[in-house]
Amino acid sequence: MNIILMGPPGAGKGTQAERIAKNFGLLHVSTGDMFREAVKEGTAMGKKAKEYMDKGTLVPDEIVVGIVKERLSKPDAADGVLLDGFPRTVEQAEALDEVLRELGLKLDAVLSVDVDEEELVTRLTGRRVCSNCGTTYHIKFNPPKVRNICDHCGSELYQRSDDTVETVKERLDVYKKQTFPLIEYYKRKGLFQSIDGNQDIEQVFDVVSAYLKKLESKA
Ligand code: ADP
Ligand code: ADP
Ligand code: ZN
Repeated sequence: MNIILMGPPGAGKGTQAERIAKNFGLLHVSTGDMFREAVKEGTAMGKKAKEYMDKGTLVPDEIVVGIVKERLSKPDAADGVLLDGFPRTVEQAEALDEVLRELGLKLDAVLSVDVDEEELVTRLTGRRVCSNCGTTYHIKFNPPKVRNICDHCGSELYQRSDDTVETVKERLDVYKKQTFPLIEYYKRKGLFQSIDGNQDIEQVFDVVSAYLKKLESKA
C-alpha cells in the first residue's frame, strides 16, 4: 500500500504518520524530517533547504524530488510507503507519478487531514520535538510525561525555529497557494479522501485506520 498524507502545516500529519506506519507496516517518508536531518548534519543540501524553511517557503521542487526519488529507490520502499508532506506542488505530484511509474509502484490513496486555521496556529506554536528521535509533542494536547523530556529516549525537547506565529502565517499562505491545487489533481484521479482532523489524536487515528483497513481488504 502506498499512501500520501497531506494537509496544512500543524494538521497532525507527522503524529498520524508515526502511528499509521507502525500499525500498517509502512515506511514513513517525511521530506520535512529529511530536511531537518540534513540541516543537523550540515550538508550542502541542508544549508540550501534551511534558507527556505526559515522563511516558511517551499524548498525548490528539483531538490525535494531528488531526495524523494533517492529514498523510494531503496529496496525497503517496495513494501509500502507513507509519504508525509510530499508532494506539496502539482509539479512534485507529476514528478512523483513518474518516479512511481519507473519503480513499478502505484499510489493507493491520498488522505488529507483537514483542520480549522485557528486550531492550526495553536497546534504549531505549542509543538515541541525531541532533539534526538524526532518524536512530536504538544505542550497542552500531547505533553510528555516529564516536562520537556522525550518519553521514548529521555532527550530534551525543542521548539522548531519555523513554529513562530509569523512563519506559521507564511506557511499557511504557501499551503493555500501552492499545495491546495493538489486536491483537484488527486480528486481527478479518484484517490482523494478528506479526513476530519478537528478531533483528538486517537479519534483521527481511528478514522484513518478504518479507511486504510477497508483499502487493504480491497487490494
Ligand atoms: P504536521 O506534521 O501536520 O505539521 P504534527 O503531527 O507535527 O503536524 O502536529 C502539530 C502539533 O499538533 C503537534 O504539537 C502535535 O502534538 C499536535 N497534534 C497533532 N494532532 C493533534 C490532534 N488531533 N489534536 C490536538 N493536537 C494535535
Ligand atoms: P509542516 O507540515 O509542519 O509544515 P514539514 O516538516 O513538513 O512541516 O516541513 C517543514 C519545511 O520543510 C516546509 O516549510 C518547507 O520549507 C520544507 N519542505 C518540507 N517538505 C517539502 C516539500 N514537499 N516541498 C517543498 N518544501 C518542503
Ligand atoms: Zn526522543
